[in-house]
Amino acid sequence: MKFQITVQGQEIALPCEAGESVLEAVERAGFAVPYSCRKGVCATCECDLVGGSVAVGRRATHEGAQPNLRICVATPTSDIVIAPRSIARATPQHRKRMTASVYRIDRPAPDVSVLRLRLPIGRRLPFRAGQYVRVHFGDGQTRNYSLANDPRDNGQLTLHIRHVPGGLFSGALLAKLKPGDLLDVEGPFGQFAPAGPGDAPLLMLATGTGYAPLRSVISDLVQKRNRRRVHLFWGARTTADLYDEHSLQRLAQQNAWFRYTPVLTTPEADWTGRTGFVQTAALDQYPDCSGMEVLACGNPSMIDQARSLLQARAGMSPHAFTADAFVPSGDSNTTQ
Ligand SMILES: Cc1cc2nc3c(=O)[nH]c(=O)nc-3n(C[C@H](O)[C@H](O)[C@H](O)COP(=O)(O)OP(=O)(O)OC[C@H]3O[C@@H](n4cnc5c(N)ncnc54)[C@H](O)[C@@H]3O)c2cc1C
Repeated sequence: MKFQITVQGQEIALPCEAGESVLEAVERAGFAVPYSCRKGVCATCECDLVGGSVAVGRRATHEGAQPNLRICVATPTSDIVIAPRSIARATPQHRKRMTASVYRIDRPAPDVSVLRLRLPIGRRLPFRAGQYVRVHFGDGQTRNYSLANDPRDNGQLTLHIRHVPGGLFSGALLAKLKPGDLLDVEGPFGQFAPAGPGDAPLLMLATGTGYAPLRSVISDLVQKRNRRRVHLFWGARTTADLYDEHSLQRLAQQNAWFRYTPVLTTPEADWTGRTGFVQTAALDQYPDCSGMEVLACGNPSMIDQARSLLQARAGMSPHAFTADAFVPSGDSNTTQ
């Protein structure tokens, strides 16, 4: 059955197919609302439900007014009225689902694998730097992984995967993967990207494999002959975890606009660089972020702390902060 979604206070009404999430229906109708994980975990897509009823995940149903509804996992069960934080016209994103083959797996750090996938001959997956793909595997399970490669090189996909102890994909499945194996991938998804070409200095904060989408954004900026100032703070535990150190040092030497600061939480005795948390290191360096744009990716608690610290102490505008939190994207985590 088809239901209607009405956006409160705006002249927007759109159809929602049976089984479709509110977010999917909104996108299909040519609108964009903020989202990140599409798993009901990160809360980026929260809207108020003003009226009507929805089913959420496999568990709950909600009827009538309900604040903070995660519309990526909410399926209407009647006509509904929603009040999103923001909604704008957007070009619908053309997503593809295809079988990619593993052509290389590297282990540049003790708990990180770089997985390179090739798409079938003649197939491409156009994406914007900063976006992610969804890997589908047994029993309808999926995991999200950011694309680390240059978006021009879209006949292949490069993923940086941190091994999560006990992790289904990053542990057991990844350990068995070998060149020639096939993976079912869908994408692109995500809105993690610099807001625009502007010339505001760009502050990048990453922890661990949160570096992956920023690698893609930096490659894209290099290709576009960027002149905008960019400073990447990359947080890790030890030097062994800084798995792309040489290439970042080289980029910083070759491009006057790019600076790179590694930040270690548990450094070796001979480490002379920055220590502690990336957000604190960034604040020390930039006590006034009022004219800067910030891109943060990785550990959810780093992202929460960076957002509040830079807003409260460095005058960062809330609109200047864009983040992708690597919340666990296993399907069992659908909350609400
Ligand atoms: C938008 C988005 C982009 C992402 N991009 C990347 C990426 O580029 N690289 C990458 O390495 N990961 C990325 N992730 C996380 C990734 O999708 C998986 O959640 C992660 O790899 C764990 O999956 P798994 O199957 O190995 O573990 P699961 O089987 O899902 O989880 C096993 C156990 O570990 C816990 N767990 C899962 N993830 C974490 C975590 N991050 N920290 C602490 N405990 C955890 C779970 O709660 C569970 O108890 C991204 C997530 C999102 C939402």
